[in-house]
Amino acid sequence: MLNRFIAATLPHLPERLVWFFSRNYIAGETIDAAMAVCRTLNAEGAKTTIDILGEFIQDIRAAEKNRDAYLALIDASQASGIDGNYSVKPTMFGLLIDTEACYRHIRDIVVKAAGYANFIRIDMEDSACVDLEIDLFRRLHAEFPHHVGLVFQAYLRRTHDDLKALVELQTPQTPLNFRLCKGIYAEPPRVAFQSHDEINAHYLEDLAFMFQRGIYPGIATHDKALVDGALDLIARHRVPSNRYEFQMLYGVTPELRRRIIADGHTLRVYVPYGRHWFGYATRRLKENPKLVNSIIKSILIGG
Ligand SMILES: Cc1cc2nc3c(=O)[nH]c(=O)nc-3n(C[C@H](O)[C@H](O)[C@H](O)COP(=O)(O)OP(=O)(O)OC[C@H]3O[C@@H](n4cnc5c(N)ncnc54)[C@H](O)[C@@H]3O)c2cc1C
Repeated sequence: MLNRFIAATLPHLPERLVWFFSRNYIAGETIDAAMAVCRTLNAEGAKTTIDILGEFIQDIRAAEKNRDAYLALIDASQASGIDGNYSVKPTMFGLLIDTEACYRHIRDIVVKAAGYANFIRIDMEDSACVDLEIDLFRRLHAEFPHHVGLVFQAYLRRTHDDLKALVELQTPQTPLNFRLCKGIYAEPPRVAFQSHDEINAHYLEDLAFMFQRGIYPGIATHDKALVDGALDLIARHRVPSNRYEFQMLYGVTPELRRRIIADGHTLRVYVPYGRHWFGYATRRLKENPKLVNSIIKSILIGG
């Protein structure tokens, strides 16, 4: 009920108001703003993965501009000495309009990152994109096995089978690097588990599978129960500290983040920036009802 109410309300709120609450989750609108946030995170001991905001473009001409924006970002970030890699959303390059053009644009970005011995993570979007994003990953991994990774969503019923099918790509020379998250998009029960407990149970099953098969996981969660579950698995499978990392979103649970770093684990923060922040920010706000209450209160009291 609350989520439906929030989902209905957010698009109608004044953009400036949504920005006021969203700025905790977004580095800013420019490369310089992103670099400043990344420098601060690096100084705290966190690595970064930078994402330029934007998704589900309607006009393929936008794809080329988005590619150029990533190429400029990578040059700037490498010149600034940031300790971090990059995340891309394929629908920002026309995945659902022209799959081949999307492949070419993302390949250009991977070539650029590989030139710096760096890495591009392909984010996973909604269930209509999953097959296409896995295909994209297969093609890029065949050419750049050390420079590209993918994301899996534990809430999808298909995820365990997808992981099993991809394991065959792995050899000692071509390791797999997958981020595991719960999944953020609204999916129907036939496609995705719906309850917190079911999703968490599948998350830990998928993670255990990744450890057993030697896949390098990015353990992306702010859920303390999953962090503890992951730490148990790491101990049980005796996973060396250079064979996994934790990942969190910028602005979410900074104390848990600092504790993980203090305990000696690698932690990477997802740092989004750019002008197209509204879709990303509203998804974050929907995850955090306390903030939405504050927004509604501030409207009611005119603050
Ligand atoms: C690095 C990273 C990359 C991601 N990439 C993708 C992707 O490619 N595709 C995809 O579908 N999803 C992605 N996600 C989002 C993910 O799927 C979840 O929606 C999100 O992380 C919330 O799940 P959780 O595991 O943190 O658990 P939850 O149970 O949702 O949250 C656990 C706790 O974290 C805190 N918390 C969570 N969100 C917020 C918030 N917005 N504000 C304040 N506190 C909060 C709360 O204390 C909450 O109780 C990514 C997440 C991370 C961390």
